[in-house]
Amino acid sequence: MHLIIQSSITHLSPNTHMQYSNCTDLYSVTDCFLHVLDFCDWATLVAISHTNQGARDNVHRVFREKLTRVVSRLLENWQFRAIFRQLDVTGAMIVGPIPWSVMTIDVDTPDHNLPNDINIVTPIYTFQSWVNLLQYIGYCLVDGSNLPNMGITIGNAKRFWSPSQSSSILIIESCSPSILSPVLSLPFTSEMSLISTSRLYCFYPSLVKENMTLSGFRYTSDDEIARWTSRGVKHFYSTYEWKKACGSACPAIWRCTEGLLGVGEFAWGGMENDKDIDGNMGSSAVLSLTQFKWRIGICCVNKHCQFRTQFL
Ligand SMILES: [Zn+2]
Repeated sequence: MHLIIQSSITHLSPNTHMQYSNCTDLYSVTDCFLHVLDFCDWATLVAISHTNQGARDNVHRVFREKLTRVVSRLLENWQFRAIFRQLDVTGAMIVGPIPWSVMTIDVDTPDHNLPNDINIVTPIYTFQSWVNLLQYIGYCLVDGSNLPNMGITIGNAKRFWSPSQSSSILIIESCSPSILSPVLSLPFTSEMSLISTSRLYCFYPSLVKENMTLSGFRYTSDDEIARWTSRGVKHFYSTYEWKKACGSACPAIWRCTEGLLGVGEFAWGGMENDKDIDGNMGSSAVLSLTQFKWRIGICCVNKHCQFRTQFL
């Protein structure tokens, strides 16, 4: 894809662009570039963003458009901005379906494949500030808002609903100052991605690429699985049916968050494209300093995987 884009730009040389007026040349190239980017998968977009500042700005623009498309179905602009301010104030991040969609949708993705819920994970002692914020933007608690069996790393978890109850915001409060421990104990690998106001982190990038999700330790109901499969995501209880080696997605291996090894990280610039615009990965990431060890299973049953458990 990189080569194709370079080729497109090269062909707009002074000898071949007679059909373009001088004042529209640059816009035409940019416009063409953006159309090409609309059809790139996530890995390609990230690769292109590392080439130079101009390419990075265009990828940022595509990212913002995707994020806006996903979120604008659920929130008015002022509500979205209020939530983003609160993310920065509390150190919280949006987790799960929203970052997954931003990484996987393209222009042909139908609206019914987009999520109706916003999940937010927030550090300890910040839950009440989210309650205040959500009440301010019109979201409220209803019966059944408490979520049971959320795991020992989660101190509090409640779902808040819009007045029409067509969309919800789930607030997950960590038991500690770090938000990583609750994120990495969520039920599915597809939920282990995060968006902050300037960065995106994906803990299972190879599975995002394949549009796959894998169950972890926690029991998952058919309804929870259907939330993902109804959007076209392939769900697996184990690695038994996988056609190639697991790599870092293997449920049998322990991984450590320090340094974010195997984690996809992308500085997307923020809504005004004024944050982390140099694209320096890891330079300002608080998460990369966190020491937390995790795995999502006990054994691997993938016959292509070197970590496959050998049962006697
Ligand atoms: Zn494996």
